[in-house]
Amino acid sequence: MASVRKRVLVTGGAGFLGSHLCERLLRDGHDVLCVDNFFTGRKSNIAHLLGHSRFEVMRHDITFPLYVEVDDIYNLACPASPVHYQFDPVQTTKVSVIGAINMLGLAKRVGARILQASTSEVYGDPTVHPQREDYRGNVSPLGPRACYDEGKRCAETLFFDYARQHKVRIRVVRIFNTYGPRLHPSDGRVVSNFIAQAIRGEDLTIYGDGSQTRAFCYVDDLIEGFVSMMEADDSVTGPVNLGNPHEIPVLTLAERIIALIGSSSGIVRRPLPQDDPLQRCPDITLAQNLLNWSPRVSLDEGLRRTVAYFQEELTEKNGAQGERAKRIYEAALALGTPIVAPPGTAHQLNADLLLGGAAETSRVNIPLRNGNGAGKVGV
Ligand code: NAD
Ligand code: UDP
Repeated sequence: MASVRKRVLVTGGAGFLGSHLCERLLRDGHDVLCVDNFFTGRKSNIAHLLGHSRFEVMRHDITFPLYVEVDDIYNLACPASPVHYQFDPVQTTKVSVIGAINMLGLAKRVGARILQASTSEVYGDPTVHPQREDYRGNVSPLGPRACYDEGKRCAETLFFDYARQHKVRIRVVRIFNTYGPRLHPSDGRVVSNFIAQAIRGEDLTIYGDGSQTRAFCYVDDLIEGFVSMMEADDSVTGPVNLGNPHEIPVLTLAERIIALIGSSSGIVRRPLPQDDPLQRCPDITLAQNLLNWSPRVSLDEGLRRTVAYFQEELTEKNGAQGERAKRIYEAALALGTPIVAPPGTAHQLNADLLLGGAAETSRVNIPLRNGNGAGKVGV
């Protein structure tokens, strides 16, 4: 229990990291306001919190102003998977930049502390390794990742300008690849892709030759880092790297996951996406010194916990599939227009993103609002 009970806003609170953070803050005794537009977040991520007397959810897009009274703000709202942030790149820049302005304006008005979920992507395809906070990065302002990388860089600029100009009490953390339960099975990130593929017995998709490296942090460790950063003295503004410095090639990650699951899956090569960083690993000396924080969960242990979650998620019975179809049907109606969705189209992606359901195995009839018959949506 926290010694002081606070009102805490978590933007992006229905997402992967946000839902774990909401849980943690409730456990610490705070009142939590989760704000999310459900672009990549899922109601199911926070369903278990809905009955909690200190938990509240608001559907809101933070590119629009928000007027609430809070003590602390964790600004997490932004799609994090390359597939999702490249789906609508203009909106990605908007949520990073306009969203930051709105949340910083809120912090300024109510005198709240505000923490920004920045990213290792601010280092781009790094030429310095491992990455320390004083490295200025190697980012393309023009490529397909720029909407996210430059959006997050601009957000950092705004945070430091609001601190200098308006004395807002800021914290900036740069998050390195984090994984764990509640990653969406079709989120597109490497850990979720590989685990879902291995469980289904499909070949694991290695982009490039798999020699590119990443360092993977388990979600519980990261959340501990968030809270330590928020609770640190106001002089600790960051930016501070948060991640697990255990670096491995993507190919090794694939082999570990296949072995852990005992899967019959093989490996299949796909082209390396443009601007995909070749190596990435955090130097966490600053977090260790300033926050006394280090990750504790090993990759093997973290993967075991994540695999257990995915096994449950992906072995839903037919009844659950029916439930998912029903949710898609209801959301399609709520959209006001029918979704006619040949597999793989933007409409299907929209439906999946909106609903957090992405099994591609069944279809459901959607009555069209204009009475022209029935459309279909992939579920
Ligand atoms: P996620 O996609 O699961 O969560 C993002 C959440 O933000 C979703 O719930 C989404 O619906 C919500 N959102 C998006 N646009 C919004 C808007 N305009 N208004 C309100 N809500 C909006 O991703 P995540 O992994 O939980 O990432 C959370 C934050 O952490 C992001 O800011 C991301 O950039 C940052 N981050 C994550 C990682 C990682 O490895 N998980 C790494 C670096 C940075
Ligand atoms: N990757 C891969 N296969 C996949 C998904 C991703 O080989 O199915 C690679 C990707 O090209 C990158 C790394 O895994 O080199 C991490 O990708 P992710 O999308 O998880 O996050 P990133 O670190 O690139 O933001």
